[in-house]
Formats: sequence, C-alpha cells, structure tokens
Amino acid sequence: TRVEEKLYQNRYLVDAGRPHIKINAHTKPSDNLLAMTKLCPAGCYAENSAGQVEITADGCLECGTCRILCESSGDIVWNYPRGGYGVLFKFG
Ligand code: SF4
Repeated sequence: TRVEEKLYQNRYLVDAGRPHIKINAHTKPSDNLLAMTKLCPAGCYAENSAGQVEITADGCLECGTCRILCESSGDIVWNYPRGGYGVLFKFG
C-alpha cells in the first residue's frame, strides 16, 4: 500500500486553541524554518504573503523533523500534544 493510503487511516484530534508547536515571531525566517515548508511530511508549514513562515499544527505526525531542525535554533517551541490529542496512529 502506498504510504499516503496508510497515512489516510490515521486520525487527528485537534486540541483547539492549544497548538503543540509554535513559531517564534520573526520578520525573516531562518533557512531552517523556511526549509520546513518543503520538509514537513504533513504540510503544516507554509510561507505567507509577507514572507514569514506560519504553522497549522493540525495533522502533525509528530515526526520530529521540525523539532530537530528548528527547536535548538530557537525558531520554534515544540511540545507533544496533551494526552489524547494529536495524531492517533493506526497500526497494521
Ligand atoms: Fe511536520 Fe513533523 Fe514538525 Fe509535525 S513534527 S509539524 S509532521 S515536521
């Protein structure tokens, strides 16, 4: 099965008003932050018309890529979703 079909079987529970990833305010994104618009497997990162990077954390697969690239550089604040929220993986 293609990975997209597998991913489609996962469910995502949004913790409304409490996104688990936040991008720190910036006028110009760092290279790492900008790269996330291409690297995030869930397409959570996007560049807005002002050239800043925004995130919609809904659908995040908790793969950790943005955490590795952007947390230590201070571009983002990353936490796991609260228990019961976030991606609910279906195995098998
Ligand atoms: Fe995207 Fe992975 Fe970061 Fe979630 S953890 S926003 S899926 S890169």
